[in-house]
Amino acid sequence: MFWWRNEVQPGVSVAFTDTGAGNLALHVGDDPGEVRQRRARLEEAAGLGARRFQYMDQVHGNAVALIESMSSTAAPTADAMVSTTQPLAVMVADCVPVVLVGDAASGRSPVTAVVHAGRPGVASRVVPAAVVEMRRAGAEEIRAWIGPSICGSCYEVTEFLREEVAAVEPSTWATTSWDTPALDLPAGVSAQLRSEGVRIEYSGGCTLENGKLFSYRRNKETGRFAGLVWTHE
Ligand SMILES: [Zn+2]
Repeated sequence: MFWWRNEVQPGVSVAFTDTGAGNLALHVGDDPGEVRQRRARLEEAAGLGARRFQYMDQVHGNAVALIESMSSTAAPTADAMVSTTQPLAVMVADCVPVVLVGDAASGRSPVTAVVHAGRPGVASRVVPAAVVEMRRAGAEEIRAWIGPSICGSCYEVTEFLREEVAAVEPSTWATTSWDTPALDLPAGVSAQLRSEGVRIEYSGGCTLENGKLFSYRRNKETGRFAGLVWTHE
């Protein structure tokens, strides 16, 4: 069920699911009842009790939603969420899932965040936007976990797109293992995190090269796996 899972500081866990958890997305033509059952199994495995993961309606933008508590069941339309209370989930299949944990002043809850950073998100700097919101919410030292995504040796794009994104984030400029233009999105995310003073604790594998992960480039009718962060009760 979990590709990677760890209690990253006392009372705070970060995880990335794999195909064992199944497709977690409601927008890819899967049976909604089965998706909800898988989400419930995941919540049980994470030990959430009565709490639920907050998912978002991801649109490849750079809006950051501040989640106080899950008062409504509606998913916010956003590509990043920040919260001090709510378990958070980001869904991907090749895009970069980023999980962030920020220490707050003593006595205050840690500030957590998830980010969906695909090609448009790297170009529009959704990751730095989330870091700014976390600091506004009281985060001091911030650490990041970069989940599995398509790597720079596999993510073939047109020469035009490579130039367009590399103009914003030079570290994304890459070449595939078969010598055509490519983008290295995790390298771009890493550079953006470092420039914001965020420490990178983990960087996951390549979705296209690993059958235990969903990859849109490998199969257009694929599911989505998740990056997760939650505080323990
Ligand atoms: Zn790869």
